Amino acid sequence: MRNLSNSPQCQAGAFRLSFISSRTPTATMITKIDHLGIAVRSIDEALPYYESVLGLTCEGREEVESQMVKTAFFAAGEVHIELLEPTSADSPIAKFLEKNGPGIHHIAFASDDIHGQLSQAKDRGARLIHEVPFEGAGGKLVAFLHPKSSFGVLTEFCQAKH
Ligand code: ZN
Repeated sequence: MRNLSNSPQCQAGAFRLSFISSRTPTATMITKIDHLGIAVRSIDEALPYYESVLGLTCEGREEVESQMVKTAFFAAGEVHIELLEPTSADSPIAKFLEKNGPGIHHIAFASDDIHGQLSQAKDRGARLIHEVPFEGAGGKLVAFLHPKSSFGVLTEFCQAKH
């Protein structure tokens, strides 16, 4: 990554710079929106809506034990929908449901370099929930930015394992 500290725009602060400068060179690349994570109390209860009402096909269900969630994935073109059901009252999804009810939980961007993406975000002022990516659903490497530094949107980076 190019060192930006000599840029006059740095006087605005590194955090602000990342949002105001479209000329900022990016070392890493977000390639697309990978999926939207949606918190539900029960995947079984939500399935008929996604399958019958929307006509999407469930591509797979998986439990991610480290996150205390069950997931189900649906393709909507290039973007996927990830339903998240808590498997424990201690699950972050259980806490989300308690506070907000069911709804959109996070947005996930596919990156071609998740480690670089995380350190770039940190360098440019974002707060990380995970400094090191972990294995999420579909065997992908995933990590989250804190919503306090991403304007209220819980943001995930993900990368398919090579
Ligand atoms: Zn996700």
